[in-house]
Amino acid sequence: MPRRNWAGNVRYSARRFHRPTSVDQLRRLVAAAERVRVVGTGHSFNRLGDTDGDLVSLAGLPSEITIDRDRRQVTVAAALRYGDVATRLHAEGYALANLASLPHISVAGAIATGTHGSGEANGNLGTSVAALELVTADGDLLRVDRDIDGDTFAGMVVGLGALGVVTRVTLDLLPTFEVRQYVQLDLPREHVDAALGSAYSVSLFTDWRTPRFNQVWRKQRADEAAPSPDWLGTTAADAPQHPVPGMPAQNCTPQLGVPGPWHERLPHFQLGFTPSSGDELQSEYHLPRAAAAQALAALDPIAHLIAPVLQICELRTVAADRLWLSPNHDRDSLAVHFTWVDDPAVVLPVVAAVEERLAPFQPRPHWGKVFAIDPAEVAAAYPRYADFAALLAHLDPRGVFRTELLDRYFPR
Ligand SMILES: Cc1cc2nc3c(=O)[nH]c(=O)nc-3n(C[C@H](O)[C@H](O)[C@H](O)COP(=O)(O)OP(=O)(O)OC[C@H]3O[C@@H](n4cnc5c(N)ncnc54)[C@H](O)[C@@H]3O)c2cc1C
Repeated sequence: MPRRNWAGNVRYSARRFHRPTSVDQLRRLVAAAERVRVVGTGHSFNRLGDTDGDLVSLAGLPSEITIDRDRRQVTVAAALRYGDVATRLHAEGYALANLASLPHISVAGAIATGTHGSGEANGNLGTSVAALELVTADGDLLRVDRDIDGDTFAGMVVGLGALGVVTRVTLDLLPTFEVRQYVQLDLPREHVDAALGSAYSVSLFTDWRTPRFNQVWRKQRADEAAPSPDWLGTTAADAPQHPVPGMPAQNCTPQLGVPGPWHERLPHFQLGFTPSSGDELQSEYHLPRAAAAQALAALDPIAHLIAPVLQICELRTVAADRLWLSPNHDRDSLAVHFTWVDDPAVVLPVVAAVEERLAPFQPRPHWGKVFAIDPAEVAAAYPRYADFAALLAHLDPRGVFRTELLDRYFPR
């Protein structure tokens, strides 16, 4: 079991590492622990999941994928990677509504932090969750269901790993579908809104060196018309692209309009490519969707600070939802993402500058990435913050799943 996260910027402080092979073993472990936390695939960039007690990987539990054709749902083992689930679903004629940029991320870890893809009509990955099974602080097994537990269920999906150890997740399915991915180059800033709303899932990439977007990645349903060659003043890429200038495109999902199944087009990167560790840090802020142009203008004065420490900045959209701690709670969102260079000393001051410039838009940081926004501002940005704090106290009165970062944002 790795002792560091994928990016290598977090060395886990746990005293003991565990890999239970059954849920019963896991239940005993949690019940006996003073402090415990699960690690998924380690793709987070902060210490939200870092405990000084016991760190548990669920990778040793059975790799269940059970499809319920009547309900059009699938129940999966929490530690499975989205990419593995997706491959099986497609083979059975099904799809998930959306995926993140990397298919190597665990289902439970992704949902716990509000992980998302893009698309004005697509919610984050947690919005597909229909039920969760979790081991709570006293070692009990709890099942919560969207249709039975209503509002409390909405509080538990984006759970920050703080409400229990999720062992199984039930997800809504769609019939499988085909997607074509087109990359357009050099989009003028004034077309930001039109471009973001132009296809099933759209990503805009900028290096902040000019007021234009270097690339637009349009993932559209295969039966939709291709963009015209001079679409919104862009030119069509005539070869596959990587979002980060100068990086090889062979790790990226197929482009140039070649049709293919949803799970081989909606992520940016291919499952077959193994990103063992990343020389990068990431931050991301969810803002009101309608504020795209103003938010970009607010960042312009610090473009000269951002560009030198940036690999690439990506804009995506996420539909509003009802999940209490979802960064998209009650708000159609613009997600402004930064892939930074792998050097916290130079990146953290720029993160602070970005947060200061974005403050007027009530930014909600990605729970799994680098951020330092004042806890009071985070609390104010979430209408259900107090309800989640109460749920935490109710489900984990001993503070078994508490971590330093969680305590900072949800003080006891
Ligand atoms: C290259 C790369 C690309 C990314 N792309 C995207 C993207 O497109 N969109 C996006 O929104 N984010 C993206 N992310 C961020 C990533 O999706 C989140 O950080 C996500 O939480 C990672 O899941 P994980 O299992 O790897 O995380 P981990 O770091 O292992 O865990 C994350 C949190 O979830 C908790 N957790 C894990 N498993 C469980 C469980 N079974 N029960 C309860 N809690 C659990 C952990 O305790 C921890 O607090 C990306 C990250 C990387 C490195």
